[in-house]
Amino acid sequence: MTVDLGLPEAPAVLAPRRRTRQLDVGGVGVGSDHPVSVQSMTTTLTSDVNGTLQQIAELTAAGCDIVRVAVPSADDAAALPAIATKSNIPVVADIHFQPKYVFAAIDAGCAAVRVNPGNIKKFDDKVGEIAAAAKDAGTPIRIGVNAGSLEPSIMAKHGKATPEALVESALWEASLFAEHDFHDLKISVKHHDPVTMVRAYELLAEQCDYPLHLGVTEAGPTFQGTIKSATAFGALLSKGIGDTIRVSLSAPPIEEVRVGLSILESLNLRPRKLEIVSCPSCGRAQVDVYKLADEVTAGLEGMEVPLRVAVMGCVVNGPGEARDADLGVASGNGKGQIFVKGEVIKTVPEAQIVETLIEEAMRLAEDAGEEELAGGQAGGTPTVTVG
Ligand code: SF4
Repeated sequence: MTVDLGLPEAPAVLAPRRRTRQLDVGGVGVGSDHPVSVQSMTTTLTSDVNGTLQQIAELTAAGCDIVRVAVPSADDAAALPAIATKSNIPVVADIHFQPKYVFAAIDAGCAAVRVNPGNIKKFDDKVGEIAAAAKDAGTPIRIGVNAGSLEPSIMAKHGKATPEALVESALWEASLFAEHDFHDLKISVKHHDPVTMVRAYELLAEQCDYPLHLGVTEAGPTFQGTIKSATAFGALLSKGIGDTIRVSLSAPPIEEVRVGLSILESLNLRPRKLEIVSCPSCGRAQVDVYKLADEVTAGLEGMEVPLRVAVMGCVVNGPGEARDADLGVASGNGKGQIFVKGEVIKTVPEAQIVETLIEEAMRLAEDAGEEELAGGQAGGTPTVTVG
């Protein structure tokens, strides 16, 4: 059966992007003319070149666009040329305390350098030199202000890391770079509290046109960090604020990338890939929806084609949702009605629902691939719903 996956439609977004300057971060565009990019940070010792490159390769495979590495020692700085050269995605060097590593990172060919002015002594005196080196090399700089390391003078003035304090610090540093005619900047003003963080970015967005790197710092373990990041990023991205994101989790960095991509997909800022629409189940359910949804999700892991699959537990909403998806099942009476693009193609016993859905999803993916090879585009709308 050949299935029409439909013409790609421009997905609706909640707001146009805030207009910004544009940056080239090692070939990845950052700014309003480019898709919002996803970043993460390695957890290996940067001096362990092979270990770091291995982790970067895993992050790249997961969809990470830009990776950051910490540079706390001379050994880490010495590893930068090899890492920057061999990584398949742009490498940003993260520098605190030691300005000399900023220059080492620029010389190493890093795609960008993140500096935390609050953690670099007499940073303001060094801005001229940093700006000159970065300009010569075409290296953008991220001014990464962090609530936990605000400069003492700003803390003294504001009493604590308020949104205004974070923004004042960031814009002050940006103004020093601007005095040296250096504008290839992106800015972050991170705070662990989403409300403070959102307010800080809103204020910042009103006062400059630099691209913004969003982050809720020290967001916590996966569950809490995901909620905090999704809430805060959602509040900002839904207003068009934010050009690159990093979800900070106390979890392997690959999780940060998955969460970041999901946030962007949820807001239609990235094309959705596999989407499982499954019902929460209730007293009417006639199958084990959780099990069914888990098994279908596991069976379709890695699916690159944008499919929406509906898994529904009974006939109340099941047929409607299943009909709307690219592929779906409405369960009841020990059977599952299988829908493909709105049509019931067969009814199978409950025990065969998962394998049938997977089989049909593969067929849809194959059709989409052939369509793409034939010069069309894989549709932007196919979906699989499980309910
Ligand atoms: S589809 Fe049926 S089982 Fe699932 S939540 Fe709705 S009413 Fe309950």
